[in-house]
Amino acid sequence: MTPPDRSFAPSANVAQLKESATIAVSQRAKALRAEGRRIIDLGAGEPDFETPEPIRRAAKHALDHGATRYTATQGTIELRTAIAARATVRRGRGEVISPDEIVVSSGSKQSLFNACFCLFGAGDEVLIPTPSWTSYYEMVALARARPVAVMCNPASGFRVTPALLEAHATPQTRGVMLNSPVNPTGTVYTHAELGAILALARERSWWVLSDEIYLRIAYGGAATSSLDVAESRDRLVVVDGVAKAYAMTGWRIGWTISTVPLARTMTAFQSHTTFNSAAVSQAAALAALTSGDDVDGAVNDMVAKFRERRDAALAILATEPAIQVIPPDGAFYLFVRAPGAGTVSDAGTVFARRLLEDHDVAVVPGSAFRTPDWIRVSYATELSQVEEAIRRIVTAYAAS
Ligand code: GLU
Repeated sequence: MTPPDRSFAPSANVAQLKESATIAVSQRAKALRAEGRRIIDLGAGEPDFETPEPIRRAAKHALDHGATRYTATQGTIELRTAIAARATVRRGRGEVISPDEIVVSSGSKQSLFNACFCLFGAGDEVLIPTPSWTSYYEMVALARARPVAVMCNPASGFRVTPALLEAHATPQTRGVMLNSPVNPTGTVYTHAELGAILALARERSWWVLSDEIYLRIAYGGAATSSLDVAESRDRLVVVDGVAKAYAMTGWRIGWTISTVPLARTMTAFQSHTTFNSAAVSQAAALAALTSGDDVDGAVNDMVAKFRERRDAALAILATEPAIQVIPPDGAFYLFVRAPGAGTVSDAGTVFARRLLEDHDVAVVPGSAFRTPDWIRVSYATELSQVEEAIRRIVTAYAAS
């Protein structure tokens, strides 16, 4: 009997949609491991550490004390108050950030999507410094706006500049996605650089979506937040969460800091999509933000370990002088130029495939970030594994 035909024509909403390549790589690595292959996964942008104990303890307590029900769509008042208090201190200049300006969502990915969907639509263009995290392009497109890739220069760590943004702007430009420290390059924008970009955006009345999920993971002193430098928050959406800094990827808590009218719209939107994020996860995020030294010490230890891995990885990469790598000052990624770049088409994918098939190392091809000549190597994995994998990358590179 012929099987029933279950094919379908996807709606126009998702006709162009591509699955997240960053997620696909780690799922493929997991599947190969399940088949018995000893894959070292440097694909996932996920800290390997356990969520700090005081946070887990607070979550267990919350579960036994009622954190099992719906909460306010926008997030519990306790969590939003803690987020707003931190943001107020960060912002300074006597400006009070209110819990009404915060929307808590199920991961900063949802926060970004809420903002894209509520701010951009058909006919709008959104500037995306490139390379950028794979999901920005898709989220903007899902909102039916046009993602405009602003290709940056590797010689400057792929930093976007006001001049580059202006060169890609049109009368339809409505927003710009910013991210520092940057996924996938690890580049960290200085105070002056970020200030200049925000000033241009303000002059042009563009919305700025400032993704600060890696802010706490910086190696050259504290990284600058848009809250530190923006003249005005009128068209600023700061996106943050607990996933990366507190090793809480699975808890799915992110948030936006924006304006009351936008927060209301995003809350209404979220009330029809996912409603509140998990009550117990919100309690855990509250503990992350309010436990003080116990948790802050654990975060500092994790950052120190990331730094140690970064330094070890860079030292091994330096043994092969032909390898070009962007010197990273934050996040936990190395962006490496693939062998054959410039001559081989999609050299990053070719190299990533060879690393996986012949060397049991999973990395993300640069095409995910619209830079096909590169690969992204995550060092959010235990030191000896990172060292072993980087040695294999060097061997594979030298043999290419
Ligand atoms: N943001 C991480 C990454 O870039 C996690 C996976 C994802 O959400 O893309 O690898």
